[in-house]
Amino acid sequence: MALVTGGGRGIGAATCELLAQEGAAVAVCDLDEEPAQAVAGRLERGLAVACDVTQRQSVESTVARVTDAFGALDILVCCAGIIRDNLIHKMTDEDWTAVIDTHLKGSFLCAQAAQQVMVPRRYGKIVFLSSTSALGNRGQTNYSTAKAGLQGMARTLAIELGPFNINVNAVAPGFIETRMTEATARRMGVDWDEFKRLAAERTPLRRIGQPADVAGVIAFLCSEEASYVSGQTIYVRGGP
Ligand code: NDP
Repeated sequence: MALVTGGGRGIGAATCELLAQEGAAVAVCDLDEEPAQAVAGRLERGLAVACDVTQRQSVESTVARVTDAFGALDILVCCAGIIRDNLIHKMTDEDWTAVIDTHLKGSFLCAQAAQQVMVPRRYGKIVFLSSTSALGNRGQTNYSTAKAGLQGMARTLAIELGPFNINVNAVAPGFIETRMTEATARRMGVDWDEFKRLAAERTPLRRIGQPADVAGVIAFLCSEEASYVSGQTIYVRGGP
């Protein structure tokens, strides 16, 4: 029984598909119901839910609905994300708040609601989406701060929730081919194919990542094989 936020597109959608292939019932949550529905419709036991992770009410009712439908919640993967890149002197309060709220507050609200269901059952797997941007990236003060914060959130919740047999980890992808990276290319005025080629050239494995590359690591962190891994951030970036 899994809930994936931002499940309607990109890494979230690939995660829904892989968890479903591995036998999980999956709640595909996204801001709009339409992309969530498109993914959920392809899954054997899929449920589409429209959810805005920045809103407590929306998150709590989503977790309640999913728990009602599935009877439990074993896995939470927080993929919902946005970017509002700009250099510090041009970054608006709105750019800052939107990114911090979606990634940090959103993951906090989802983890808080999920642990309420997981703790009494003494079982749970939570995965946050960090990023290589956590290490610093020009034009991403908001995003980098949020992604670094998520690594701290994973470590802290691993300590708090470990006694209840709940694993909390983060994955930190590098360049993954999704709508998000395509938007970055557009913003920088670089041709999308050229942008991908340059990113591949900078990557030790000489290719860019695909959503399935990240989904595989998320699924591993949600599996019994990784049951003694908690509070970690695993970089998925085709290099060190
Ligand atoms: P996508 O843009 O493809 O997917 C993100 C999804 O999150 C979209 O469906 C989006 O909905 C949804 N979303 C945005 N805001 C909210 C919200 N408030 N509530 C619920 N859902 C929301 O991005 P990716 O798949 O690339 O990114 C997934 C995660 O991975 C993000 O956290 C991102 O920061 C992280 N990541 C991505 C990398 C990459 O290279 N692509 C690298 C490192 C990390 P809508 O379409 O309606 O806006």
